[in-house]
Amino acid sequence: MREVSEFGKYRKRTLAVMMVFAMAITSGTPKTTVYAEEQSVTSAGISVQPEEDPVTPESVQPEETAVPTVEPTTTTQNTLVVKKKKCSYPKKIYEGQTFTLKGTLKANHKIQKVQASIKDEQGKDAVAIKKKANSNKFDLKKIDDDMKFSKLEAGNYTYEIKVSDSYGNEKVALQKDFKVKETTWAWPVDGGSKGDGFHCGCSVHGGRHLGVDIKGVSKGTSIKAIADGTVVYAKYHQAARRSSFGKLVIVYHGNGIYSYYAHCNAIRCKVGDKVEKGDVISTMGETGAAYGTHLHLELRKGPAFSGNYNSYDFLDKYTYKQFDPMKYLTKR
Ligand SMILES: [Zn+2]
Ligand SMILES: [Zn+2]
Repeated sequence: MREVSEFGKYRKRTLAVMMVFAMAITSGTPKTTVYAEEQSVTSAGISVQPEEDPVTPESVQPEETAVPTVEPTTTTQNTLVVKKKKCSYPKKIYEGQTFTLKGTLKANHKIQKVQASIKDEQGKDAVAIKKKANSNKFDLKKIDDDMKFSKLEAGNYTYEIKVSDSYGNEKVALQKDFKVKETTWAWPVDGGSKGDGFHCGCSVHGGRHLGVDIKGVSKGTSIKAIADGTVVYAKYHQAARRSSFGKLVIVYHGNGIYSYYAHCNAIRCKVGDKVEKGDVISTMGETGAAYGTHLHLELRKGPAFSGNYNSYDFLDKYTYKQFDPMKYLTKR
């Protein structure tokens, strides 16, 4: 216990210096009992010394390096203090969006366990994580991958991070409300209505038509991007007559989300084009496995765009999984 005895010396020396200091400032009427009392209760008294004191240069060392060298007193055991350093967290995100929780929690005790949860409006856990720690610092990066913000449906949530120490103290270190907003994208054509997929031969798997067909719009009508993005595919889909998308445009919207526009009559964009919501990318047609003029629109979630334009991989339904476009498109 060399460190403790050294600290003891340090305390004695500090006390002596403080008494001298106290005598100096009170001009001959030292109230030493006040300072002595502070010293016996908590080591925190050390930090009240003026930093410019030339006699004890050690006094300027940060508190965090001095505290762990001494047996914790009853006072410090009972209080777990957690400070937040450079923390950033979401206040509002959109469905499907990922978010990185950043920052460090710093405690006066060794953190033993960190419990993070995202609670829905009913107070039920949408996400719950437990992590062990063995340090008085905890980097939020360690729980970030497990937070799964992108899985949350639209609604109001609270996330909470609870920290426990080895004395059984528990403290809510972070508690924030945030909102997941519904993503509403533009309808891709002026007019038209949702079809039933009967006249669409493509993307039918096990009798189920994936995506949404838009009918009732004449051939040559403009098709517009439903949201901002980058054109990553713009060419005829070579496949069997009964399963071809025909002339196909795929737009990448970020966060692994892609929109597919099939059976176009003419393509009015090229790969690499940056498009905004409402920009014309193609026209209505019946190329590929289409029976009558219609737009077959799909939304898919897959890996982030790799830079490989016109890749046949975009047609792989297991890597790029369809989800219901009507959840995101303005209802008509
Ligand atoms: Zn189709
Ligand atoms: Zn279709």
